Amino acid sequence: MNIEKIYKDANALLEGHFLLSSGNHSQFYLQSAKVLENPKTAQLLADELAKEIKRSGLKIDTVCSPALGGVLAGYELARSLGVRFIFAERVDKKMTIRRGFEIKKDENILICEDIITTGGSALEAAKVAMGMGANIVAYAALANRGFCKRVGSSKDMKPTCKLPQEIPFFALADFEFDIYEPQNCPLCKDGSTAHKPGSRGN
Ligand code: ZN
Repeated sequence: MNIEKIYKDANALLEGHFLLSSGNHSQFYLQSAKVLENPKTAQLLADELAKEIKRSGLKIDTVCSPALGGVLAGYELARSLGVRFIFAERVDKKMTIRRGFEIKKDENILICEDIITTGGSALEAAKVAMGMGANIVAYAALANRGFCKRVGSSKDMKPTCKLPQEIPFFALADFEFDIYEPQNCPLCKDGSTAHKPGSRGN
């Protein structure tokens, strides 16, 4: 499956000259929500991710996603795996699991995101679930930004990755882009101007 093509066709992988929220510039931008806009595409991607997780032989009882980004990906993955789905959400910036969701002692939980950058939100959701008795068996995302090492990739983990190394992390593809400080941006040097993703209808 050509994941990059699926993202491009869905206008989820944008090419241009982007001003990121960090203030840095990039030639590419991943708009994860766009690839999940079509439920059939979402199902296709989740099925592919589920295949790899099933091959690992891990026993998973429940998928848990941090809201909002991870919910669609996690729900589709839970459907593909044939397991329960719950989500964690921020209340006053603090990650919580509420809405009556229960976790049994030693319940095997996979934490799913749409995209993993450093894995900060995924780790927060995992900690809340562990506090309720969960056993975190894996992390998963449709796309990996290349900071964390996914199962099957030869690329190493970067120091900024927050996911625990001893727990497997599954993702469909690495989307690793160069990020430039404005004063060192080759796109700026070529004379174009960086714009915020979304400001031109994307
Ligand atoms: Zn630039």
